[in-house]
Amino acid sequence: MKTNKEWHLAHPMVHNATLQQRIIWHVDHQRNCNCRPIPDNLLSLMNKDIVK
Ligand SMILES: [Zn+2]
Repeated sequence: MKTNKEWHLAHPMVHNATLQQRIIWHVDHQRNCNCRPIPDNLLSLMNKDIVK
């Protein structure tokens, strides 16, 4: 597990993010950082293709 601190500083999680904002954040996060996986509940929603 490696944290991309620069990415995190540039991309803070919005405090009252909508579901779609959270999904987008996590997809972007996973491409840039490995500090934590996408939560299972978000993954299952993503599989229902809210976001491709
Ligand atoms: Zn991270």
